[in-house]
Amino acid sequence: MVEFKELGLKPEILRAIEERGYTTPTPIQEMAIPYVLMGRDVLGCAQTGTGKTAGFCLPMLEILSSGSAKARMPRSLILEPTRELAAQVAESFTKYGKYLNFTCALLTGGYGMDEQIKKLDRGVDVLIATPGRMLDLFERGNILLHDIKIFVIDEADRMLDMGFIPDIEKIAGLLPKIRQTLFFSATMPPEIRTLSSEFLMNPKEVSVSPPATTAEGVIQFILRVDARKKRDALRDLLRREQLKNAFIFCNRKKDISGLAEFLTRQGFSVVALHGDLPQNKRDEALEKFRTGMVPFMVCSDVAARGLDIKGVDAVFNFDVPFGAEDYVHRIGRTGRAGSEGKSYTFVTPDDDKLLQNIHTLIRKDIQEIRLEGLARPAEAPVQERPAPQARELRRGRSGYERPRDRAPRPPREQPPTGQTVGFGEDLPNFLTKSRISESQKEDTF
Ligand code: AMP
Repeated sequence: MVEFKELGLKPEILRAIEERGYTTPTPIQEMAIPYVLMGRDVLGCAQTGTGKTAGFCLPMLEILSSGSAKARMPRSLILEPTRELAAQVAESFTKYGKYLNFTCALLTGGYGMDEQIKKLDRGVDVLIATPGRMLDLFERGNILLHDIKIFVIDEADRMLDMGFIPDIEKIAGLLPKIRQTLFFSATMPPEIRTLSSEFLMNPKEVSVSPPATTAEGVIQFILRVDARKKRDALRDLLRREQLKNAFIFCNRKKDISGLAEFLTRQGFSVVALHGDLPQNKRDEALEKFRTGMVPFMVCSDVAARGLDIKGVDAVFNFDVPFGAEDYVHRIGRTGRAGSEGKSYTFVTPDDDKLLQNIHTLIRKDIQEIRLEGLARPAEAPVQERPAPQARELRRGRSGYERPRDRAPRPPREQPPTGQTVGFGEDLPNFLTKSRISESQKEDTF
């Protein structure tokens, strides 16, 4: 088994790792770190939860520890799809780089620009940004990009879903041609692979888990329920299961506040998180949930990716997600780091097609439970299924077609000017190549 000290990292970094209590590198770290240190481009297929962040963060710290940044000229750039993920990555840099003299700045929408500009003026080694705010500040002349030596595109498949690809292409076009690029995605469907070739040169490919595998430690259930009875079913199930905490995912942002209010009236302590909330509310909700002050979070898929909160008992899919992969990401919020978790998906008669897509993707049957009598179901492991042609079912023929598993949605309504639409402030260019429709994106995150 490889040890961290064999990977060629500085004593200062090794000391910070040791303090975190990590004894050995995770597989993605073991595979990616040597190639990043060699200066190679990397195409990484890894989900959050695999230790991917340290997989790029540690070697970047090593590389960037020699040299220093000039004012407004960051030396590396990491793009993240959500503000929460960007903040989490910034936190990792701070933790792993605590014994190094290096600077890191976070550029995301939802916060005032002044502080961010001041930080940039002082010079930063690592800039972590969401694409919209990054372009905004570039266009205002607050950032110069010609000193970028390492460019990281994280969660590329989510970026595609959220319509960030045109912005990323634009940003990549502003960077020096000679640079190192690291491209990570939780899944590697053909359109992502094609996209990666736009940014990478002779990349080393590293992959740690087959796309769309659900964590072993998550016991998955579905509950067939009439659409009008979902709220009551959720209340009853929450009362029955006596969970310490849980995420409750809705497909549409507009349903979140109503459900949160309903649960509050029923005596549960809940917070809400979705992309239309002001940033301070998003931060506050996350903090209350993370610290255990509030046990239930009703949220959109903005919370489905990458949020690393340990010890979450369960995930509820109040709605079956439109995309089968979102199911995998949502339930991945529980059963983390080898612990056990449960997922409960509410399925109405209209959801059969979406459920079938999930079955096809994860290749497992999901155990059905009933609420009547509240008999506790046997917690049998889910059955393995033979491998069908999952991705063909899910994707259109051409790379960026709207997948067939998405439910048809009403045409998008134009929001009033100035209104934040999900990640709208991070989205000056609405998508042209997204895997989900604009109206879905607008409703969803
Ligand atoms: P990530 O996939 O980067 O979101 O990381 C998931 C979790 O794994 C985070 O809580 C990390 O702190 C943790 N982690 C990262 N590397 C290691 C390691 N080598 N050993 C144990 N835990 C780790």
